[in-house]
Amino acid sequence: MTYISTRGAGTNERHTFSDILLGGLAADGGLYLPAEYPRVSSDELARWRTLSYADLAFEVLSKFSDDIPAEDLRSLTRKTYTAQVYSNVRHEESAVQITPLKTLGVENGATLSLLELSNGPTLAFKDMAMQLLGNLFEYAFAKHGEMLNILGATSGDTGSAAEYAMRGKAGVRVFMLSPHKKMSAFQTAQMFSLQDPNIFNLAVEGNFDNCQDIVKAVSNDHAYKAKHKIGTVNSINWARVVAQVVYYFKGYFAGTKNNDEHVSFTVPSGNFGNVCAGHIARMMGLPIDQLVVATNENDVLDEFFRTGVYRVRGAAETYHTTSPSMDISKASNFERFVYDLLGRDPARVLQLFRDVEEKGGFDLAASGDFARVKAFGFVSGKSGHDDRVKTIRDVFERYRTMIDTHTADGVKVAREHLKPGVPMIVLETAQPIKFGETIREALNREPERPAAFAGLEKLPQRFDIVSADAGVVKAFIAERT
Ligand SMILES: *Cc1c(COP(=O)(O)O)cnc(C)c1O
Repeated sequence: MTYISTRGAGTNERHTFSDILLGGLAADGGLYLPAEYPRVSSDELARWRTLSYADLAFEVLSKFSDDIPAEDLRSLTRKTYTAQVYSNVRHEESAVQITPLKTLGVENGATLSLLELSNGPTLAFKDMAMQLLGNLFEYAFAKHGEMLNILGATSGDTGSAAEYAMRGKAGVRVFMLSPHKKMSAFQTAQMFSLQDPNIFNLAVEGNFDNCQDIVKAVSNDHAYKAKHKIGTVNSINWARVVAQVVYYFKGYFAGTKNNDEHVSFTVPSGNFGNVCAGHIARMMGLPIDQLVVATNENDVLDEFFRTGVYRVRGAAETYHTTSPSMDISKASNFERFVYDLLGRDPARVLQLFRDVEEKGGFDLAASGDFARVKAFGFVSGKSGHDDRVKTIRDVFERYRTMIDTHTADGVKVAREHLKPGVPMIVLETAQPIKFGETIREALNREPERPAAFAGLEKLPQRFDIVSADAGVVKAFIAERT
């Protein structure tokens, strides 16, 4: 399997899975994709139906990472996807599965269900990929004996998923920036209560944008970056995307009886990483009918899928919402989809994303390419705070099931795209406890708290307060590496 850049570089070079594992952007500023998508035969699909999650992950991933010996990859997936790691379940029937499918009911002739992706250590779907990444890093370093210092910025979910995946891992340190006193008490406690010596929480005196700017500034200092072996684990990382392909297969098998059926997925979306994995599953041959992109008030993606116009937002137009993990001004994985949409034409991708930088966007409405959005199964919708509250209340009253704010955006939009006879699977991206304030507003009761999190906010916290200054952060890292 060879990887290429969406902007054309690397056509003459051979990048393997291991080569791009630790990188972010390709050298030409594009994103990595396989030179062609592996296909799944109907025989394979039949054989995969009954596999455990770990073994299904092995089958899917081995199609993308043929440079990792099969026995190594199998032990990595078996170590990563255990019922023990995904034990934060809220219903007894979910207890022994990694990504259980919870059926809500039949609406407009379609079975509506939730694919529970948030039963891992940090209660958000980002664990599904990040846990694998942690084990892949450890494996790569045991082989090559190098050290990596991961630098990231978070407003909540990404940071804790990265820290719980990397804690205690040999060869890896994590330096995670978060806006001081701006995360919820629960999310703060999740991160700051970690006492592992390889985890560093930096509470930045500023907002999330300041944190991101610092990461950018450090990453652009190439000499510093090389000297201190700085890496990132943001959502453009290919290993994170490909790890997410697995649960679309799992969800499909759980929601159907045989491989002649089609299902649709609705994905609460921000940076387009999650739904991009669904697109890849579909390109591999998984019988997906629709991929429904659900956004919140930050509707860059909904606007594109409705109109063909991709227009990134400025800071003043980026809203802080009650589904904060979907608050984006542009969707960093979107370029991967656009590459396929344009028939894999790197010169045009390069031009369009230059237009994004220079003119703030592009318009495909008039081009024949936009018509292909339908052929790829994509539709979209958006949801706001009132929709969220109403949906949380409705799903609780109707189905006795508590959902978080992001999943509520998904259910709201899924309901706009139901087709009789086609199961609709909404990806549950986080547990309600992470966003307790809105749960209390909607239901007038406390969110469900998995047993392992009892008393979390009372644990001792370990963090350093730093000013919003890249130089200060650089010095902090340099002193500890
Ligand atoms: C990260 C996140 C999302 C958005 O996922 P993308 O891959 O960025 O589209 C949605 N919901 C939750 C809870 C998240 O943490």
